[in-house]
Amino acid sequence: MRLILLGAPGAGKGTQAVRLKEKYKIPQLSTGDMLRAAVEAGTPEGMSAKAIMDKGSLVPDKTVVGIIAERIAAPDATAGFILDGFPRTVRQAEALDKILAAKNMELDAVIELKVDDAALLGRIAKRASETRASGGTVRADDNPEAFKVRLAAYHAQTAPVSAYYAQRGMLKTVDGMGSVDAVTSAIAQLFER
Ligand code: ADP
Repeated sequence: MRLILLGAPGAGKGTQAVRLKEKYKIPQLSTGDMLRAAVEAGTPEGMSAKAIMDKGSLVPDKTVVGIIAERIAAPDATAGFILDGFPRTVRQAEALDKILAAKNMELDAVIELKVDDAALLGRIAKRASETRASGGTVRADDNPEAFKVRLAAYHAQTAPVSAYYAQRGMLKTVDGMGSVDAVTSAIAQLFER
């Protein structure tokens, strides 16, 4: 099973990806997590990505495409994977097509979680306050200023990715406004049809 989860920041991609990963026993490939790990490890890639991420903008396509190509080539991804946060631009989607074609791999589905913009900021603020309450470190980009930039990047650069897959007849849209369990069931139903 090879899936892509699309959706705005705070739409719930990460939450649903964890559930899908357990259900299908395939890894969740989150470019956001990989980039944050690179920042943490202080790699050259991470160091140049940090300021861009903190601001809420997208890191260069070349960087994320390189990271994801390497990750898809890892042994645990041969049986399938869930892409969470990638592709975020049409160029990334085109690069992914090439990576998969070279491996004779095909995507099974592209699932978009639809959530109103107004609800997103509230979710991000909630995530930040819960993290703070549990003594964790709040993500540097989970603040209203960076969030505005992330949302703008989503509408300008990532919304066209949905159109890219819709044109190819691969896009499935799920209402992401309900509870976590309701969204999980809606995704499960896509595979029962
Ligand atoms: P979100 O909650 O906004 O979906 P992520 O954890 O997926 O957050 O990503 C956090 C940040 O990492 C993004 O705002 C961006 O700077 C960078 N990033 C993650 N994935 C990509 C990508 N595919 N292309 C460019 N930048 C990315």
